[in-house]
Amino acid sequence: MNKCSVCGHERNDRDMKCPECGSFYSKIAEIIAEQEAREEMQTFRGRCKKILSSDDVKQEVLSELKLMWAGLTKKGVFALFVIFVFVFALVVSVL
Ligand SMILES: [Zn+2]
Repeated sequence: MNKCSVCGHERNDRDMKCPECGSFYSKIAEIIAEQEAREEMQTFRGRCKKILSSDDVKQEVLSELKLMWAGLTKKGVFALFVIFVFVFALVVSVL
């Protein structure tokens, strides 16, 4: 049984990370965990989790929306505009 190099807590061979101080036992384990966290950030579920786990949910939703808006290309905005106009024209013609 080894010990954590940071805090001296006894380590379990199956663990990648110290349960006491949270430091990783190897650089590879750290890189893998970082990669997983980054991948989860890119999924919708990961984003929802991040929003729900934050202290200020409203602020987090706003910043996510801002990110989405910034990610929209001019083409995307134009497509939305066309859809909006189309729906508007449809509503007007029905009335
Ligand atoms: Zn530790």
